[in-house]
Formats: sequence, structure tokens, C-alpha cells
Amino acid sequence: MPSSLTSFTLVKECSGRYCASFVVEVEEIRLPWTAREVGLDLGLESLAVGSDGEKIAPPKFLRSALRTIGRLQGSLNRKAKGSSNRPKARLLMARVQEKVANQRLDLFHKLSTTYIRENQTVVLEDLNVAGLSRNRRLAKSIADAGWRMFRTLLEYKAERYGREVVVVSRWEPTSQRCSSCGHRDGKKPLSIRRWTCSACGAAHDRDINAAKISSPSDRRRG
Ligand SMILES: [Zn+2]
Repeated sequence: MPSSLTSFTLVKECSGRYCASFVVEVEEIRLPWTAREVGLDLGLESLAVGSDGEKIAPPKFLRSALRTIGRLQGSLNRKAKGSSNRPKARLLMARVQEKVANQRLDLFHKLSTTYIRENQTVVLEDLNVAGLSRNRRLAKSIADAGWRMFRTLLEYKAERYGREVVVVSRWEPTSQRCSSCGHRDGKKPLSIRRWTCSACGAAHDRDINAAKISSPSDRRRG
């Protein structure tokens, strides 16, 4: 234990299991500065796509769990309200969901630690939910929760290790438009943090340029 407890909470999960959580003070551990940056694109088909194009395929447990959850949901919907089988089906569902959430959290912990250790800046593009087909809503809600979880992990680790996490909207065109002359310079990979306008030659920091473009007096989409 790195320090004394400041709070302790015991929660009973819907699955019937107990879960303890506590708050401790942790020391900041500054990692040596690195010039490396990575842009991450989280989708449903892959857990993350780095700006170097490296994809991390979702582990088998996530795919099979999605099928199981879909099946359980179907059987839960068929059970009549008030029937004795309904609470049982609900408990089974909660257990499966909890197991998946724990496995995924473990995986996200490992991934986020690696990305934060290896990069000074991690740029996270908001969730890509394009190309959904089977189990569409379910998959989306699971992916949404996963994206938020992953972002939270990245952010607190970045703070702890002296790194930076930047979240960008995939629909925001600001990274493409020059704030000096308005020229559309084309979509840039997330790893490109600084660029020079090909029309007027202005040098831009991606975030500062985006902030200038999206200031309230000049908020446009397209
Ligand atoms: Zn320009």
C-alpha cells in the first residue's frame, strides 16, 4: 500500500458480488521526456489503431462475450415479467457483463500503460461507430463504455507520469483548415501535431489552430 487510506467503499454489484474500492494518495512518477507521439483510433472492429497503422484486434473473449450477452438479452426479453425465471436470467446476465468488464479493464490497463510509457502525447480520436451490423446497439453501448474507460485510464496515467492526452473529434474539420487564410489543407493523421499551410505558409500547432478556428465567433462545420 503506497499510503494510508482516505476512503473505503464497499458496493454490492447486481451480479451479487461485493466490490471494494478505496482512495490512496500516489506519488507522481515523471518519466523522461520523449519525442514520440501516437494517435489512437478506437473502433468496434479493433481496440485501437495507432497512427503507424498498427491494429490491436479485440481479444476472443470480447467477441464471444458479445454473442453470449446478445443471446441472454434475447432470453431475458422472452421471460414474462413476474415469472420466477426472470430474476435468474437477470443475475446470469449481470455476471457475464461483470466478467467481461473486468477482463476488458485489465486489458485496457495494460494497453494504456504501454501507450503512456512509450509516448509523450497520446491523441485519442473519439469513438468510431461506423460499420456496425449485428447486435448494433449492444455493440455500440459496450464500445462507448470501453472508450470512456480507456480515456479515463489514459488521462490519469498521463497525469501521473507527466504525459499528455489529447482528445479530438473525428467530425471536427478544424485540423484541416488554416486559421490564417482559411485554406483547407486536407485531413492530417493524428500524429501530425504541427503543420505548415500549403497556401499561405503559416506554421500551425494543430491544437492552437483548431482552437482558433473553433472559437465562438468563428464556429462552422463542414
Ligand atoms: Zn493558410
